[in-house]
Amino acid sequence: MDPRYQPGPIDVQRDTGVTITYEDGYVAAFDLMALRLGCACAACRGLRERGQDVWPSPTSPLPLRIDDAEMHGAWGLRITWNDTHATGIFPFEALRKWHEDGCAFEFSRYASI
Ligand SMILES: [Zn+2]
Repeated sequence: MDPRYQPGPIDVQRDTGVTITYEDGYVAAFDLMALRLGCACAACRGLRERGQDVWPSPTSPLPLRIDDAEMHGAWGLRITWNDTHATGIFPFEALRKWHEDGCAFEFSRYASI
């Protein structure tokens, strides 16, 4: 696999964000809110297509927080949020490309799943 898309250490700060150091030494820090709002799962895509916010819902606990994060195979990070949303998978390759573009656009544009 291309080392640019292969994660080394992954640091999950539940209240602030996720920092991934890639195998080629590139360090990418991601903001919690940007990750949540950019969630590329089918449910969040559906909400966006209907012009609705993916977060927060009326029942979302505030502030936003990560409850759990785990590897999804070797290619992605699966995040469980404190509103129990857990269907979003963040592929390492897409995260890297998103970060290289300055996270200027919503993450879901980079994730093809
Ligand atoms: Zn989602």
